Amino acid sequence: MLRGLMMDRPLLVSSVIDYAADAYPDVEIVSQTVEGGLHRYGYRAARGRIGRLANALLGLGIKPGDRVATLAWNGHRHFELYYAIAGIGAVCHTINPRLFPDQISYIANHAEDTALFFDLTFLPLVEKLAPALKSVRTFALMTDHAHMPANGQLNDLLCYEGLVEEMNPHIEWPEFDENAACALCYTSGTTGEPKGVLYSNRSMLLHSLFLTATRADLFAHNRRILPVVPLFHANAWSLPYITPMTGCTLIFPGARLDGPALYDLMEREKAEAGWGVPTVWLGLIDEFRKRGRKPPHLRQILSGGSAVPQAMIDTLIRDWDIEVTHGWGMTEMSPVGSLTLLRPEERAKPHLERAQLVAKQGRRMFGVDLKVIDEKGRRAPADGETSGELYVRGAAVVSGYYKNEEATRRQVDAEGWFGTGDVAKITPDGWLVIVDRTKDLVKSGGEWISSIDVENAAMACQGLAQCAVIGVPHPKWHERPLLVAVKAPGANPTKTEILDTLARKVAKWQLPDDVVFVDTLPMTATGKISKKDLRARFADYKLPA
Ligand code: AMP
Repeated sequence: MLRGLMMDRPLLVSSVIDYAADAYPDVEIVSQTVEGGLHRYGYRAARGRIGRLANALLGLGIKPGDRVATLAWNGHRHFELYYAIAGIGAVCHTINPRLFPDQISYIANHAEDTALFFDLTFLPLVEKLAPALKSVRTFALMTDHAHMPANGQLNDLLCYEGLVEEMNPHIEWPEFDENAACALCYTSGTTGEPKGVLYSNRSMLLHSLFLTATRADLFAHNRRILPVVPLFHANAWSLPYITPMTGCTLIFPGARLDGPALYDLMEREKAEAGWGVPTVWLGLIDEFRKRGRKPPHLRQILSGGSAVPQAMIDTLIRDWDIEVTHGWGMTEMSPVGSLTLLRPEERAKPHLERAQLVAKQGRRMFGVDLKVIDEKGRRAPADGETSGELYVRGAAVVSGYYKNEEATRRQVDAEGWFGTGDVAKITPDGWLVIVDRTKDLVKSGGEWISSIDVENAAMACQGLAQCAVIGVPHPKWHERPLLVAVKAPGANPTKTEILDTLARKVAKWQLPDDVVFVDTLPMTATGKISKKDLRARFADYKLPA
């Protein structure tokens, strides 16, 4: 091999915020704060506070490799922690506050977090959890002096603004190996204990560059993007890195993520794009309908984390003139694996055909390799027909779970590919179609029914706001599909109407045996419909004969 003669400079997260401070000093980060009111500053001012915070972390004895945890909403202080922690070579461990308290303490203990920074919202939770957090030495409340509790239960509770104000903004970032860890996320895990995904500086930068390269059109100087996806859900899909790289404005929504609150913030802050999971968009679309208009600047939505129903895409494109990008990925992939990538001739299609394409999970992102392995263990052809388990490979894909060799052995194959647990097929022109999560497929007789397909068809029926299809035990067929649905506000569809409409859209053997209407569907900590909880709830459900 003839080695290239280029500088071997490390790819470090700290370089991103330094670049933004130079290139986009006045491009704003706007935050709806937990205390109330908006906070706004530019990337240069953010860099100054990140320097102060980094010096404070060093003063607290945080060392390279230490895990520093956060329990926080999307806001400027959380953003600052991302950079200050990674900048000094430590690891920003974002914990999902919607998990059960026992899961939170399990995760913090497994990660051996040494410090915990948290929003005011979570003070009661942290006070209760503190005795169980074995390794945490430092507790810091992400607020100002005025909002510190008068007689809190945590000894030596630090005030974030107090830490920052006393420090010097100047810091020379240390240089270290780009493979050093910079962030840690635990997957929600539908079975077993949560598993840790430890990202490196290199993987984080590469993932951000891969995503930017694949869909450069999503980013632009001053583009105003609102991440509804939390900073604790797989690094908010890389937005906290890509926006400073490309000079986009960040609009952080804080703690209120309901339709009316998001609408108001989008309108006031002239949001042009929103990123989040499908359930968030349901609430927002409802608000569009109520007000008879959309926030005037909003023209792009990126939806990921679970399948976006085609009916939702259709509504957004047709009724609201909003372009939808559908992404698929996993925490283990940093997280994006594929996303909508329309060729010019596809872009020119009528909206319904476009919506059909966008309902697929997109084309692979640059930097991600995909393979589908069929039941016999062979590589399936990309014929749009043959499905199997989807495996992935790439510089931003996990090579193994943090301190969990058993789970690593289960999910990484002999050639080093990561098994996603998703069943998928790939069309000849490169569209990835996620058929289902392996565990969510309904096994009826010898056939598998894709719950995603039936849900898509059901959502096209009038009068449904949300639905999920699960398999329930059946004496003859092993499992049969049950449709659990939430009616749209003001609508009152009957079981028979839904099944009659569905019968025209899916094959007879795929038609749910019954429909149950509920007020709400159970959600996971990352805002997806929890089929695990639904299956538990309907485990003894008697289907009509
Ligand atoms: P998480 O790591 O918690 O974000 O979960 C990743 C899983 O969510 C994937 O393995 C898929 O099963 C599911 N998922 C994510 N995005 C999509 C999508 N666009 N369509 C269908 N399933 C998705």
